[in-house]
Amino acid sequence: MTQKVGIAITGASGRMGQMLIQTIAQSDVAQVVGAVEREGHDWIGRDVGQAMGGADLGVVTTSDPLEAFANAQAVIDFTAPAATVAFAGIAAQARAVHVIGTTGMTDDDIAALEPASRHAVIVRAGNMSLGVNLLTQLTKKVAAALDEDFDIEVIEAHHNQKVDAPSGTALMLGQAAADGRGVDLKTVSDSGRDGITGARKRGDIGFSAIRGGDIVGEHDVLFAAPGERIILRHMATDRRIFARGAIKAALWGQDKAPGQYDMLDVLGI
Ligand code: NAP
Repeated sequence: MTQKVGIAITGASGRMGQMLIQTIAQSDVAQVVGAVEREGHDWIGRDVGQAMGGADLGVVTTSDPLEAFANAQAVIDFTAPAATVAFAGIAAQARAVHVIGTTGMTDDDIAALEPASRHAVIVRAGNMSLGVNLLTQLTKKVAAALDEDFDIEVIEAHHNQKVDAPSGTALMLGQAAADGRGVDLKTVSDSGRDGITGARKRGDIGFSAIRGGDIVGEHDVLFAAPGERIILRHMATDRRIFARGAIKAALWGQDKAPGQYDMLDVLGI
């Protein structure tokens, strides 16, 4: 029997952390070998399975990533930007594939991943689901086919605990639209309209964010022209789609050369 790929989970007690642990526990090809939480967190020193209210998984939560990553071939990380940058260096030291789902990373955060990616594989995506990654490709195609008579707007909705906006997925979709149109997203992005904004600028790509309840994630890409509208839509109803994508990325990265990759590489689309 081939050995299971050992995966360490950062932010183990988080929404995605718990979903990852549950999903990996049912996997034939991967197993949880480490779990990280912040210093002082009440999961530290406890078995992750038990902390989640289930059976022991034989993995004790630690605040020391070096210890958690030591026996891991991959680290799956859905935490916060500063933590992710720090984890990247430690995962590279352990030569573990670092799968990053964390969103809200600035250009500086992303640049800070570069040294780690010279020594290890990093797979980073604002959305790990097959559906959204396919949607980015569709968005790029539609944007390339239409001219600026069509205003492009990305509308997203998430649960009321989400801390960043626009969502990582909305930015991926905006980027895909900009790529399709052959423009620089930074130059045409129009986010967070409020007050007397003036008329919409032709060629802009707009972003709007809705926050409420327990919405897992919904994204529309709207192409609006005089007399007609096209809407491309993805609706996530279960966080498991992100967990499955992240696990797929962790396995995919095992035999790849050091460098930075995204889910389009993993999915081959
Ligand atoms: P969450 O429930 O708040 O979980 C985040 C976890 O990370 C928490 O347990 C948090 O601990 C922990 N954490 C933060 N900083 C840490 C540090 N320095 N050391 C150790 N643990 C740390 O959030 P979530 O809904 O799971 O989302 C997490 C991230 O993934 C967000 O950026 C979200 O946008 C993103 N996300 C991405 C995808 C995708 O497909 N790419 C899908 C869903 C979510 P504390 O509670 O102590 O802060």
